[in-house]
Amino acid sequence: MNMNEQIKQWSEEAQASNADHPHRKVELFIEVRDGALEAVAPYLNQQGYHHVTLVEDKHTSAAAGQKVAKLIREAGLTVDIVRLPPNAVGDVIADETYIMKVLLGVTDKSQAVLAVGSGTIHDLVRFVCYKMNRPFLSIPTAASVDGFTSAGAPLIVDGSKQTFQAVPPEAIFADLSVLASAPQTMTAAGFGDMLGKFTSLADWHVSRDLGNEPFSPVANRITEEALHACVEHVDEIAAGSKAGVEVLMNALIASGISMLMIDHSRPASGGEHHISHRIEMDFIAEGRKQVLHGAKVGVASALLSDLYRELAASQDVEAFNVYRTLPASEQMRAWLAQVGGPSTIAELGVTEDQLARALRTAHTLRDRYTGLKYMNEHQLLRS
Ligand SMILES: [Zn+2]
Repeated sequence: MNMNEQIKQWSEEAQASNADHPHRKVELFIEVRDGALEAVAPYLNQQGYHHVTLVEDKHTSAAAGQKVAKLIREAGLTVDIVRLPPNAVGDVIADETYIMKVLLGVTDKSQAVLAVGSGTIHDLVRFVCYKMNRPFLSIPTAASVDGFTSAGAPLIVDGSKQTFQAVPPEAIFADLSVLASAPQTMTAAGFGDMLGKFTSLADWHVSRDLGNEPFSPVANRITEEALHACVEHVDEIAAGSKAGVEVLMNALIASGISMLMIDHSRPASGGEHHISHRIEMDFIAEGRKQVLHGAKVGVASALLSDLYRELAASQDVEAFNVYRTLPASEQMRAWLAQVGGPSTIAELGVTEDQLARALRTAHTLRDRYTGLKYMNEHQLLRS
């Protein structure tokens, strides 16, 4: 079953289970295959988009942007290029400055915007497209994050990370040759984002039981199956092969779809994501070069895993039984190291002080019930 058929099946199951949780209909055209870039121009033609804007940076231009632009021009269509320059520390970040650069690049004539890159470029484009009422197409250059299909854009405004309403892409073209050529650290980050689902799914069960928060069994199952596929195929993902990035990209898209379906990030984001956001804000405040989102999430999830297992063992709270099923931190770190990503806080460049601060304040960033929040409320964090 290809991804489009799979989404159709999930949507039907979700519609049938609307009594548990409202599910929104997900309509998204997806190509995950070798040579997917060649499908972009025919798609634009079919949709009647004769004039489009392509947003890229120096790296993603070389990885896919130039090729896509050439194919679009050869098809007789017009494409304007917005090349985002790096900031002083060499990053492109989703903040006010870059939003402005994208806004200025999308002319009145442009009918759609193509995001060529990883998470950050997608977040900038999805936000601008929402504000300008244009469709956006996703061309991922690395299997690095599960946010490609997201309807929300995490943006840095006044130095603080907040998620804003935006639009999901109308279509995704994920070319396996492009993804397999991405730096392995990016593939490892995508794997880290998926590994984080161990703790996010467990936290979701806890927020349902202790916080009375909405829960969708269908969205839970989609994310769980995607996570298990990644663990099962860890060797191929570690090798960075086309087969490996295919499993990973499909898992990241599935995770994104589960969020889109229920209009919430609960399946994919728990205490580990809150820690990651906290650390990111620290790095921005210090003017430091960013660490990939999934790299932080993977390490934070590995760290939380043992804390959550101890929590289940020490507290007489039935809801915490779900934490007993988590893999040990050591196992999670071994997987992260195997795929070529950082596996410890020190490898992320985070100090013990920063970590302690993150553990104590991260739960205040989102209005969600998590094991991390419980530990803070009951003063269970040591040192
Ligand atoms: Zn994530």
